[in-house]
Amino acid sequence: SKTKTFHSLRPKSQLPLQTTPLSVTHYLFSRLHHSPPPPSTPALLHATTGHQILYPEFILRVQNLAASLQSRLGLSHGQCAFVLSPNSLHLPILHLSLLYLGVIVSPSNPASSNPEISRQIRLCNPAVAFATSDTAHKIPNFLRLGTVLLDSSEFESMMLTCPSSTEWHQISVSQSDTATILYSSGTTGRVKGVALTHRNWISNLASSAARNASAPHTVCLCTAPFFHVYGFAYCLRVLATGDTLVWMTRFDMKAMLRSIERFGITHVAWSPPVAVALTKFGDGNEMGGYDLSSLQVIACGGAPLAKSVIEKLRERLPSVQVSQAYGLTETTARVFAAVGPEETGVEGANGKLMSDLEAKIVDPESGTALPPLMHGELCVRGPNIMKGYVGDEAATAAILDSEGWLKTGDICYIDNQGFLFFVDRLKELIKYKGYQVAPAELEDLLHSHPDIVDAAVIPYPDEEAGQVPMAFVVRCLGSAIDESQIKDFIAKQVAPYKKIRRVTFTKAIPKNAQGKLLRKELIKLALSKL
Ligand code: AMP
Repeated sequence: SKTKTFHSLRPKSQLPLQTTPLSVTHYLFSRLHHSPPPPSTPALLHATTGHQILYPEFILRVQNLAASLQSRLGLSHGQCAFVLSPNSLHLPILHLSLLYLGVIVSPSNPASSNPEISRQIRLCNPAVAFATSDTAHKIPNFLRLGTVLLDSSEFESMMLTCPSSTEWHQISVSQSDTATILYSSGTTGRVKGVALTHRNWISNLASSAARNASAPHTVCLCTAPFFHVYGFAYCLRVLATGDTLVWMTRFDMKAMLRSIERFGITHVAWSPPVAVALTKFGDGNEMGGYDLSSLQVIACGGAPLAKSVIEKLRERLPSVQVSQAYGLTETTARVFAAVGPEETGVEGANGKLMSDLEAKIVDPESGTALPPLMHGELCVRGPNIMKGYVGDEAATAAILDSEGWLKTGDICYIDNQGFLFFVDRLKELIKYKGYQVAPAELEDLLHSHPDIVDAAVIPYPDEEAGQVPMAFVVRCLGSAIDESQIKDFIAKQVAPYKKIRRVTFTKAIPKNAQGKLLRKELIKLALSKL
């Protein structure tokens, strides 16, 4: 067929009327009201301690906390809350309470450095921060409502006690209001704040079907961090469908396998490095002696999963479906996903377009839409697409056109059955273990060093991490700065996952006539020396 715009082949989801005031939390609660899980179902379950919260208690805590945050802290609709914490029981409750009040949630990686956090805080302009005793020192002290400690008795009491109805009032949230600000460098340049609306999140949730009351209980383990769009979305989806969300504070392979066995986990959400680590774990097909027979689906997203890894997973866990999903922060997580045995059976594919979305593959030079099987830049349109980058109209206009198409910066193709295959990244982005590293940010830091004349940063392939940042550096005449000094200089200023892990000295950085860096040439050069 010569179709150039691909429409979702899935049934339309039952999206609420766009004009109805509705927060994503109210939407999630209405889903639970219409298809309630049995009251004995745990909503949240800690993978290592087994500590759990059942659904009725979970809903109560979200409502109590929302009321307390408004009456005790004075938080109100339209303000922003910055969140800096590893995965914990409190996070899903906190996120949903804030969203219930129409407060914008801006979660950040707790490993971020102080300059990184300062930049994020400038972008989202929060009234308050939520942190843990371990991360609070990174929060500046000028926020209007200060910092609330998630591991304090004060926070505990806000979740457990409800202010009287005279002390607080229900808020009306529009679906077009900003719900979250997450961080992404997009296709070029430095980190930006991605504004996703309540409507964006509602449409993400609406694309997963209501649970079938007679179907066996689903227990889902998420190892992805909740501050990343993948973890944030997975967490909301599991709770909206009334399933059990199992989380870990810190990833540990043995603890994860033990928890699969102990809690009969049926679904896991991983980033590719976890899948790679699993294929190397234990002895042959023994899986270290753990009984993983409850496992039905391994969901993997955020970066490409090598075919060899999929094959090894299938060898080791023959009855498990490996479901790849593709998405961006800017598209409210997944836009293509392999759902069910038929779609997960197509090796190397990221499944089909999710409900209500359109996609096209365009020639990156001319912008013309291409037919199936041709390689080009993937563009996506629909209710999951972000509102824009906060306070950055130019960057928004560069990625999102006036017709609502978002340019992903990824080279892909779509086959005649509608399956998406990822080919390569057109954009600058480096993905280290699924985390974003923006070359421009590292280049800025390298340029600030007095001994460095010019520098460029590229992705270098790595089996475990997917990619690692590699720097090409031009030293000043007479400078003896060496590889380890450069690595240390950067490491002091960035979160650990952004460290430069390879350095090559060179005489000049290739540029075109306009002075634009020819990154692809450096990538070719690095690969030719592999
Ligand atoms: P993020 O905003 O951090 O989720 O990063 C989005 C980028 O991650 C995409 O533009 C892709 O380059 C990459 N990505 C996400 N999912 C996949 C996937 N299934 N296969 C390959 N790359 C992926």
